[in-house]
Amino acid sequence: MVALNHVGSHAWRRSLDKHWSERARLLYPIRVSALLNIYLLAAFAILGAAVAGLPARDWWFYALSCFLGGLLGCYPLDKTIRPEHTLKSWGYQVLLGWGLRAFLFVPLIGLAITIPAKWRWEALGASIGLAIWHAWIVSAGHILILRWMRALTPISPELQAILSECFSKTSVTPRTVGILRTPLLGAFAAPITQSLVFTEGLIKHCTPDEIRAICYHELSHLTESRQLKTQRVLSSFVFFPFLFTKPMLDAWGLWGLVIVGITSVFWQKAGVRLLRRLEVQADQVAVRHEVDPGLYANSLLKLHILNQIPAVMPRNLVHPHLYDRMLAAGVTPDFPRPQPPKKLNWTTLALYAGLILSIYLFYQNFRRW
Ligand SMILES: [Zn+2]
Repeated sequence: MVALNHVGSHAWRRSLDKHWSERARLLYPIRVSALLNIYLLAAFAILGAAVAGLPARDWWFYALSCFLGGLLGCYPLDKTIRPEHTLKSWGYQVLLGWGLRAFLFVPLIGLAITIPAKWRWEALGASIGLAIWHAWIVSAGHILILRWMRALTPISPELQAILSECFSKTSVTPRTVGILRTPLLGAFAAPITQSLVFTEGLIKHCTPDEIRAICYHELSHLTESRQLKTQRVLSSFVFFPFLFTKPMLDAWGLWGLVIVGITSVFWQKAGVRLLRRLEVQADQVAVRHEVDPGLYANSLLKLHILNQIPAVMPRNLVHPHLYDRMLAAGVTPDFPRPQPPKKLNWTTLALYAGLILSIYLFYQNFRRW
């Protein structure tokens, strides 16, 4: 993993003299691939165990070891991206990111594996239970989990004073405001619990005016209607169709799998369309409350530069591209519109090719045996 990330990030590491937008563009596929490669290395571990004839009941152990090793192997790259990281601070960020995901995905994967292939109505009860758990996590539970992981701290009186101007101007006062322990610059709103979260990185690097500019965007999310809040929760059920992979395979064979995949993609696209509309609205609210023209656009620019996120992404995500958000906020960036980054780095393509070739060779030999 260390070697793969090192050779894969060569062009980015040699680009110190380039504009930040070009550097972020080069870094994007490296980051995506570093994550994907962890899973691919775990797949290699399973294949290796199969070739070596090791008992199938132990395969999960080799895959998990490889996965954890791969995760640890990302430290040198992450340290190059953010030199201020120590092993401890980096480990905490990894734990935070994967910990939150685990609350959603471990029960989902567990039930997907144990669900009976022949459909039984008891499975519906378990699925509804899981749906309620999922809805709770994405609407309210994530704030509680972050508190429980000691990742959320209360805001200081100084920050309260900075933000109270926004609350009085919009007549929206969040129920709770917290600071998330991460060097990344960001903020998010949880409309259902009426909570607002700012990151430590944002508070550290932004001026009070910039913090307020971002705050107006987030406060707009807190005014979303009950119907929108429900749609927001529903849109997070992207991976839920995979829960029924086994019964669908049993009922319709490979077509069942195709239906599961298409449903998930459709759900994701519908969700992005809805959430994107809300982001555009929130941006408009933030621009309306600007004290200086261009303040909001330049705050977004700062967030992207320091987070090293490309100004144009390779596909449409929930947030429009930074370049378009700045234009919509009335500021033309002082750099030309960059090309979107590549979706993946060559290291992932090499691993994919290697994996497919290995599986092919394995089956060729398997048949001969
Ligand atoms: Zn937003």
